[in-house]
Amino acid sequence: MPRARTPFAAGRLWLDFVNTDEAPRHAQPDALVSFDGYLAWLESVGLVDAARRTALERRALEQPASASATLHEARRIRSALRPLAERGLHASERATQTAVLEINRVLGRSTGVRRVERDPRDGSFTRAFVPAGDAFAALVIPVVESAADTLVTGELGRVRRCAAEPPCPRVFLDTSRSGRRRWCDMRTCGNRAKAARHRANARAPRRLPPGG
Ligand SMILES: [Zn+2]
Repeated sequence: MPRARTPFAAGRLWLDFVNTDEAPRHAQPDALVSFDGYLAWLESVGLVDAARRTALERRALEQPASASATLHEARRIRSALRPLAERGLHASERATQTAVLEINRVLGRSTGVRRVERDPRDGSFTRAFVPAGDAFAALVIPVVESAADTLVTGELGRVRRCAAEPPCPRVFLDTSRSGRRRWCDMRTCGNRAKAARHRANARAPRRLPPGG
């Protein structure tokens, strides 16, 4: 199983996964609108390679019901994870419970073998999980494992939603030293916020000179 590409745009794989629902705002189709779109996203983050994607596409043609159930599940997991990603430690008890239930449901049914793999590029070692059984259902496991890691490492306090106005739904992991990062991306939302502040300052009434 190919290793996921790192670093992820949002800092963690599961946050990139949550962010796939904001594509329509940028006139791109939601990655999870079709099974093929889901596979394309999985390839874009390095969870499947081109050959595996082709094999899965072929299989989806043979088993359309199973492909559509897999897609449906991915969307359900995404909507369970979003409230947790948006509010981090401040997510409601109910939202947190729902996310944990989804995570445990996937982890609970995932079977496979654990192994150590060597990266041919630099010879480094990593642990890998090679799922057995249903190839479709296994696709989401690394995403869910990534969410589980965030919970158990105490990293959730650094997960939040972009503070931009108008609202931007992107979530991210704040890895800044100060822990005060507010925008998903300095080049887009951060810059817009700065420009808006400038405009507001320019509009503010200036004090007139004495006698004026
Ligand atoms: Zn943003």
